[in-house]
Amino acid sequence: MPVAIQDQPPTPPTAKPASTHPPTHPGLIHVHRSDQAFGSFAISSVSLPAGTLFTKITGATPSEKAYTSVQVSADSHIELNSDLVYCNHSCDPSVVFDMEKMEVRVVDERPLSKGDPLTFFYPSSEWEMDQAFDCTCGSGKCKGVIRGAKGMGWEGLKGYWVNGFIGELVREEEREKNGQ
Ligand SMILES: [Zn+2]
Repeated sequence: MPVAIQDQPPTPPTAKPASTHPPTHPGLIHVHRSDQAFGSFAISSVSLPAGTLFTKITGATPSEKAYTSVQVSADSHIELNSDLVYCNHSCDPSVVFDMEKMEVRVVDERPLSKGDPLTFFYPSSEWEMDQAFDCTCGSGKCKGVIRGAKGMGWEGLKGYWVNGFIGELVREEEREKNGQ
């Protein structure tokens, strides 16, 4: 999903789920495939109002933390095993990944249009990313290097929906910082 930064070994594109597998969300997600590592991305095939359900997350399996995994609690991760893995990071995302309800929703701020890239804000689910990366989302509010929510504080996460366990980890971090 993310673009690897220079000090990480390059990951061959074959590490991604096989590009020949049948679409897991036909009529909902179109995957723009690229032979370049991290070049593939998901596009919405539908238009939906802000805040509505895009899809439930099904078929996920527990996994170690990896560049394709998504965090689901303070200490566990899953692999999506579907075309949802092609939803890349953006600092101005189109959807949220609610890993407690196991659903993908359109962001509350704006509707989703057919043809929009499906993107979410990785720090909303990732505390410390397996691979930090330089964000190239081009948004005016781009955060630059994306490492996960750790160290961002409420100030850095302001305006973003985050999973409950990320909120709890931020609260813990702030308590420690304040010596409480
Ligand atoms: Zn960005």
